Amino acid sequence: MGRLRRSRVHNARRDVHRAARTRVRGRDLDQIQMLDLDPKRRAELEAQPLDFEKPGLAQHYCVECAKYYETDAALTSHWRGKVHKRRCKQLKEPAYTIEESERAAGLGRETRKPTLTTAMIVEDEVPVT
Ligand SMILES: [Zn+2]
Repeated sequence: MGRLRRSRVHNARRDVHRAARTRVRGRDLDQIQMLDLDPKRRAELEAQPLDFEKPGLAQHYCVECAKYYETDAALTSHWRGKVHKRRCKQLKEPAYTIEESERAAGLGRETRKPTLTTAMIVEDEVPVT
């Protein structure tokens, strides 16, 4: 019997149990989209004062991933990596808003242009003779 496969068996999933802990919970995507990606706030985050509690004294921060890095080299290699690119792609999609959840529950206001579903309902109401 040959060697059982040991490498490439997990697909970019880091420690699952550690990621589920509340104390490592990072910022949510909508928080980043609406607050952190604002140019003024972004500049603020990238030039933080020295903080001895944070990794790398809070000098190497990735705004998209809301994560601190130890060194500049670590940060630049992170920017090139898959995790960061996937995150950027997620951030390009519109955030899930309260309005959207209300629309899903059928509480939303009727918008200016009729949606596909209402158009279909109107068609159904045409009497068949
Ligand atoms: Zn990143």
